[in-house]
Amino acid sequence: MSISSENLFLHVDGDSFFVSCEVSQHPEYKGKPVIVGEDRGIAVAMSYEAKSLGVTRGMPIFKIKKEFPRVIILPHHFDLYGRISSGVYDILVSYLEQVEQYSIDECFAVVKPSDIRLAGSAEKLANDIKNEIKNSFGVTYSLGLARTKVLAKTASKLNKPNGLVLLLDKKDEEEALKKTEIDDVWGIGRRTVPRLRNMGIKTAYDFVHYPSEQIKKYFSEPIYILQKELSGENFYEVDADADPRDQKSIQSTATFRPSSSDSKIIFAELSENVERACEHARGLGLMSNAVSFFVKNTDFAYRSGESKLPLYTNNPSIILNTIENVFKKILQNGEKIRSTGITLQNLRRSEEVPRDLFGMQDKSESKSIIEEVSDNIRAKFGQNVLKRASSLKGEGRKRGNSFPLGKK
Ligand SMILES: [Mg+2]
Repeated sequence: MSISSENLFLHVDGDSFFVSCEVSQHPEYKGKPVIVGEDRGIAVAMSYEAKSLGVTRGMPIFKIKKEFPRVIILPHHFDLYGRISSGVYDILVSYLEQVEQYSIDECFAVVKPSDIRLAGSAEKLANDIKNEIKNSFGVTYSLGLARTKVLAKTASKLNKPNGLVLLLDKKDEEEALKKTEIDDVWGIGRRTVPRLRNMGIKTAYDFVHYPSEQIKKYFSEPIYILQKELSGENFYEVDADADPRDQKSIQSTATFRPSSSDSKIIFAELSENVERACEHARGLGLMSNAVSFFVKNTDFAYRSGESKLPLYTNNPSIILNTIENVFKKILQNGEKIRSTGITLQNLRRSEEVPRDLFGMQDKSESKSIIEEVSDNIRAKFGQNVLKRASSLKGEGRKRGNSFPLGKK
């Protein structure tokens, strides 16, 4: 069955994007184990060589230095990532009309039959785009082309790095689904995976062939839609106007149990929200210069505060250091707090952040200041703050997060 008479969806995804951007500026790092994340104290992105040595995402820098002394460790350069990201977007819109920037290194686009005719074939079109990205910026992207957004996203993962996977008939789709573990399906959360596994669903293929009435009955609407999208039924459109990098704020909130009146525990909870929101902002290459935050007590009374940040940042340490005093003031003696939340405001693309007169913006990216601030926060509030968000997830935490990117 040929399916090229309808619109197709293209997904493009940068390979080890932050590291590839760094290597594009430093050819001497090519083929070497490289990681980005020095400024965060953990590995945020790794080259394939670093991964094969055993470096994993979130591994502390001190540990990497000790166990893998050959690894080249770099801080983030968000301006660079933002510039390359915008350049890739521009390449895509030069080929295709409807392009959606999904994250700093991911875009979706609609590929119409006329686009394919113009290029000669779907494969030629995708290769032209891939090669132009590589020749223009020295970074590689992996591409997936398929009948739906979720299938395209699945396809781009299958042959990384520098991959191109076209799912142009039912047989291609089935093979791709069989190769995709259920854990790797886009949009299936960690809590849903064990439930599906218990039902005997191990791969995306199993998922697609499970009776959909059952999926509809026992799971939320988005899971049901995922099943439809994976089976080739198109639910999600390319949102060409919504560039997530244009959003002005990012929020993260969470309810925790048991409620607590211990300011250290409450601040650790708030800090996890700050980490989350910052991670999200970094993923989009956005920075904020003002934050608002709240605590809500067990009687559902809100207390909120606001702080102007000393500079544009997406570094959780700087934000926590800034809000600390206001935070202490909004807590009322002994009251039990059940949830906290943070909103990063006035977001700007990192490459558009003005460099201030005294070079503070540049200095903030230097390691020493960030470590100093982090140590200061830890000394006051204990080791529980400023860990990676994933390591802090306790039992009984209920996330009411409201990231604007919730659509999948
Ligand atoms: Mg990527």
